[in-house]
Amino acid sequence: MTERQASVLIVKMTPLDDVLLNPAIKHLEELGFKVAVFNVPLHVPLTLYNWKRRQFKAETILDLVKREFSDVPYTAVIAVGYIDAYAEGLNFVFGYSTQRYGTVYVKRLKSDDVLVYQSRIIKEVTHELGHALGLEHCDVPRCVMSFSNSVEDVDKKSMFFCEKCSAKLSSILKAKQRV
Ligand SMILES: [Zn+2]
Ligand SMILES: [Zn+2]
Repeated sequence: MTERQASVLIVKMTPLDDVLLNPAIKHLEELGFKVAVFNVPLHVPLTLYNWKRRQFKAETILDLVKREFSDVPYTAVIAVGYIDAYAEGLNFVFGYSTQRYGTVYVKRLKSDDVLVYQSRIIKEVTHELGHALGLEHCDVPRCVMSFSNSVEDVDKKSMFFCEKCSAKLSSILKAKQRV
């Protein structure tokens, strides 16, 4: 196991059962990240809700997360919620991220099979953390950084970074340590 020396704050945007979130936390720890969970759910205001689409707008939620957690001492902040969200030009998104901050929307990842649901959450949390740390989409199909347009795509990929993304991540984190 490699010690990546990066810390991640997981924030709940809605109440979320530990059964759903804990496997993702454990996975990030296995990848070498230090993980902390902020247990007070972030209040996502209804003004960010689009009543015509019956979805939240991912860009505005991400802005909210950036504002509320602007000075926390973590390498990255990932907010997770039982929310359906869209982004400009997309019908829906499983997640939406920018430098240091990521959001994961689990509503559309839901499955009757809890193991499948957990596995999808693990993959999307890892994917958005990759983006928050500076990784882009990867064309290796099994790589967790490959783009998922559907839950079938999510199910097909693994929960791990491919060798190329893993190496890139290590050099990004090394560079961050030098700052
Ligand atoms: Zn992505
Ligand atoms: Zn990759």
